[in-house]
Amino acid sequence: MNVELDQIQLPTYPSGSYNFIRRLRNEAVPKSSPSYGECKRDETSNPINNENQLIFPVKLNITIIGAGVGGLSTAIALKREGHSVTVYEQALALSEVGAGIQIPPNSSRILHSWGLKAALERRSIKPTSILWRRWQDGSTIGNARLNPELEEEFGSPYYVTHRAHLHDALHERVRGLGVPVRLGKRVEGYEVDDGVVRFSDREVVKTDLVIAADGIKSFARKLLNGERDKGPYGHGLAVYRATVSMDDIRADPLLKWIADSPALNLWLGHNLHVMSYAIAGGERYNLVLTHPTLPNQIQNISSADILNEMRSSYDGWDPVLKRLLDLVNHALEWPIHAVDIPERWASNSGKLVLIGDSAHAMAPYMALGAAMAVEDAAAMAAALNRLGSRGELGDVISKWTAVRKRRVTQVHQASFGHGLILHLPDGPVQRARDEALKAELGEGAITESPNQWNDPTVREWVYAYRPDVDINESF
Ligand SMILES: Cc1cc2nc3c(=O)[nH]c(=O)nc-3n(C[C@H](O)[C@H](O)[C@H](O)COP(=O)(O)OP(=O)(O)OC[C@H]3O[C@@H](n4cnc5c(N)ncnc54)[C@H](O)[C@@H]3O)c2cc1C
Repeated sequence: MNVELDQIQLPTYPSGSYNFIRRLRNEAVPKSSPSYGECKRDETSNPINNENQLIFPVKLNITIIGAGVGGLSTAIALKREGHSVTVYEQALALSEVGAGIQIPPNSSRILHSWGLKAALERRSIKPTSILWRRWQDGSTIGNARLNPELEEEFGSPYYVTHRAHLHDALHERVRGLGVPVRLGKRVEGYEVDDGVVRFSDREVVKTDLVIAADGIKSFARKLLNGERDKGPYGHGLAVYRATVSMDDIRADPLLKWIADSPALNLWLGHNLHVMSYAIAGGERYNLVLTHPTLPNQIQNISSADILNEMRSSYDGWDPVLKRLLDLVNHALEWPIHAVDIPERWASNSGKLVLIGDSAHAMAPYMALGAAMAVEDAAAMAAALNRLGSRGELGDVISKWTAVRKRRVTQVHQASFGHGLILHLPDGPVQRARDEALKAELGEGAITESPNQWNDPTVREWVYAYRPDVDINESF
């Protein structure tokens, strides 16, 4: 990412977050975002309830490949609409890494509508804000207000939770709806226009529709796009992921305030940032530590080396953060990869279609990747409700693809864009960012902010979005 002032590319997604750069370059600042309307907010019929929409009688037999957030969400969304659904997963057991995940209102609104509210409330935290902290001393430089403001404004909260808890909640709902999840089933081939899937154990399945939620390394994406699919790529950054016992934090006088504070803490420095928050009902503290890495470096180092490298990466940083890192016993290192939004998301017949990371894996700098998979699923349910006959499947999937491509292409861009803002080296652009962030530290209303979690234009565009409304408008 280029952080030279004159080289920074200004985004095309709705955002006031780059106005500090426009001012620094003496460029005109737009009065308001012309794209506000693109958020597809529906004031009339909250919460989402596809059952109330126009329902056509066609019900499909559907195969879903992959039981991550994307696959399980799609299973819930489609089974609720009366389709017959089976999920196939290559792993022998369902599991998720022991790390946290943020669930923004555009996603929590949909999850609530699927009956997951009680499960989320039971095991998640509703943080008050994301506090941006200077790398050197932890001083507060920005403050994105989350709860209750987001819930009041957008009708649904911002949660943070353990990945395993979100995954368990989705899986429980899938089971409750009677959807079979078949484990140890690895796809080896598709007949893309015929709804045929071949598994490594030689089983062959033919259904009306195959939805590939097979993640960032998607085999289905490669098949649909051939040589044009470059596959996952990095941009020189990786994350260490770790959790720390909240009891250990409470026992340490330097850290105790963290256990007492319901906010996320985010330390920012050049090419490094640390996102941290309580998960597991407040029993563990989750750390995601972004840092530069070399290609292929990650596979070759031991767990002890990871811990040593992690600690030395933050030499000279806030003593509070250093102390937190001393409490870490085990860390995973994870490359930050993304894919270019592929040209083809579906076969001509519409009988094979990509969903979730397989279609749009993005940088995690706005914590929206899984949220986009949840939106995809809700949008798919709304689109299939428009199916008048099986012969219309190609058209319906093509409309779904157009709607989702437009949305996720911008969110993909916004995720990278936020990485640039988070990782500025100390210097004039960083000072201008921090100056612009000062408005967040007072009590007054914010009209714009470099902090995309707080910029009103970004918030409206991302969090008010209703995939069902967008789909229905496209028909
Ligand atoms: C560091 C980091 C932090 C993040 N934080 C957030 C966050 O806070 N909020 C957020 O919304 N998003 C976040 N994301 C993004 C989020 O994790 C992903 O977007 C999301 O998990 C993708 O879900 P998925 O179901 O599409 O893919 P996956 O979770 O990868 O699931 C794909 C599934 O398909 C299976 N599969 C693959 N190939 C086959 C095959 N051939 N046959 C059968 N099964 C197969 C796999 O085993 C897997 O279970 C983050 C990402 C990273 C890297």
